[in-house]
Amino acid sequence: MPLRPRPVPTAEQLARMDAGDMYRAGGDVVCKHCGKLYYDHPYFAEPYEWLTVICNGDIVKL
Ligand SMILES: [Zn+2]
Repeated sequence: MPLRPRPVPTAEQLARMDAGDMYRAGGDVVCKHCGKLYYDHPYFAEPYEWLTVICNGDIVKL
């Protein structure tokens, strides 16, 4: 498993998790904000490390 930053979730992110505000996306999608692949974005914090946070703040399941 590649090493990626693992941020502490913000209150807003936790609220979005509670609301089910996330979606599936391909890991090879290029981020419109930074130009990197979604795979190169940080994990969501535990226990949701199977999710990824992209630059616009969206929570995605790759
Ligand atoms: Zn990005």
